[in-house]
Amino acid sequence: MGVSNSTSQITHNDVAQHWIDGRAAPSTGERTQDVFNPATGEVSRQVALGSVQDVEAAVASAKAALPGWSKLPPIRRSRILNNFLALLNEHRDQLAEILTHEHGKVFTDAQGEVTRGIDIVEFALGIPQLLKTDFTDQVSTGIDNWTLRQPLGVVAGITPFNFPVMVPCWMFPVAIACGNTFVLKPSERDPSAALYMAELFKQAGLPDGVFNVIQGDKVAVDALIDHPDVKAASFVGSTPIAHSIYRRGAEQGKRVQALGGAKNHMVVMPDADLDQAVDGLIGAAYGSAGERCMAISVAVLVGDVADKIMPKLAERTKQLKIKNGMELDAEMGPIVTRQALERIQGYIEDGAQSGAELLVDGRIDADGNPFTVPGHEGGFWIGGTLFDHVTPEMRIYKEEIFGPVLACVRVKDFAEAVDLINAHEFGNGVACYTRDGNVAREFGRRIEVGMVGINVPIPVPMAWHGFGGWKKSLFGDMHAYGEEGVRFYTKQKSIMQRWPESIAKGAEFVMPTAK
Ligand code: NAD
Repeated sequence: MGVSNSTSQITHNDVAQHWIDGRAAPSTGERTQDVFNPATGEVSRQVALGSVQDVEAAVASAKAALPGWSKLPPIRRSRILNNFLALLNEHRDQLAEILTHEHGKVFTDAQGEVTRGIDIVEFALGIPQLLKTDFTDQVSTGIDNWTLRQPLGVVAGITPFNFPVMVPCWMFPVAIACGNTFVLKPSERDPSAALYMAELFKQAGLPDGVFNVIQGDKVAVDALIDHPDVKAASFVGSTPIAHSIYRRGAEQGKRVQALGGAKNHMVVMPDADLDQAVDGLIGAAYGSAGERCMAISVAVLVGDVADKIMPKLAERTKQLKIKNGMELDAEMGPIVTRQALERIQGYIEDGAQSGAELLVDGRIDADGNPFTVPGHEGGFWIGGTLFDHVTPEMRIYKEEIFGPVLACVRVKDFAEAVDLINAHEFGNGVACYTRDGNVAREFGRRIEVGMVGINVPIPVPMAWHGFGGWKKSLFGDMHAYGEEGVRFYTKQKSIMQRWPESIAKGAEFVMPTAK
């Protein structure tokens, strides 16, 4: 799976190391953690858990690379990104394979993830255009005023397990194209894709130190956030950690964008094409085993829709093709870890106990035996789970389960659907299936959620639009990637200039105004 002979040390070694100063770097500490293949339950390798010294080495390398990289003309930075883009395209399937082996998502879905990451690299190639700023001739006689957008310096990214390629790509290509240098701390559950991308980027001609990877957990994250030379942090993960990182960074006066968890609703109006709505719900609830921050986990069924679609949803949920993601007809793979599997099983029990109607119980198969996949009995398996008659006070409604569990809530009309969603603490993504233009328009305007799909179940914005939720799904002012990403990774400077020929004699004691 190595990309060249020089890569064998990190792709075939059994410890996923750091990547510092353009090469694989062993950890200075002793701590490691198992990395699993979730389909078999076997340990595939270890990952180093970085120490404070490791973080210091990565930040020092990024700091040393900064002067050269930040002064390189943006178009020359883009050319290196363009080489990286070509290598990503060439190695798309190897990256997807790494994702399936460590995350568990099905290979075709992993290919989609890599493509969505590549989209951002394509966007980043055009960043010279976005670094172009404003100029005003003659703000006063003989005086011009213009704006610069300059890089922040060394910036950090901390990413979750569920998109080991796409989410880092929301950050580092944009930051690096803007002239920053970068330290990525990927999830310790699937650490290999970040190293693979680091190698490709080096092959693309990236100077050493511009992109570094530190493996690890809270120790590495805290050391990164607290490091005086790290000027900003982008975080994506669960809400409690997002909030604590936002607070910790902001307290030190740093720029932080921290994207958190979600509970995404899909409203189905009585006038919707109900077969399309069922397709939308099945794909969005169970794709990637529900381990997407934009997964639909609540169906809001308006009027008589529930009676019409629940039987279809139940039938389709039972028919999901759940198998090792490397089998190309697989629709859903395993859960990332045994711990996550047990958490999801606990939520199913809680939902059943709290009075929701458990129409399909993913914990058991059709014969009532514990759910598993033949030949892969050690894997972290669960089937699709479907609840009806879920109500807002239930834990399975309020909390993020992050698994293949769809909770269906019945409401009487559109207004009740909007109020229900607006009262939820999360506001990442939402969808509405309807044929009514006015309902669609009102939904888009009134819903308090950052990303809205009309007949689109998972409305992940394209690379140049930017990604971000509202409420407890995002702490910070700016969304990831797109123009907001460029703003996040640059600071504005205003320059006002005149030449001696325009300077009047004598000191001025009054507030200068246009003359
Ligand atoms: P997580 O919060 O457990 O971990 C995210 C990152 O934070 C990892 O790199 C991890 O090592 C680090 N981390 C974990 N505990 C920490 C601590 N105590 N202090 C400092 N750092 C810590 O999230 P996860 O389980 O990897 O990912 C799933 C979560 O991410 C879900 O809640 C999901 O909704 C969310 N997510 C959100 C988005 C979004 O765009 N809003 C996108 C993807 C995932």
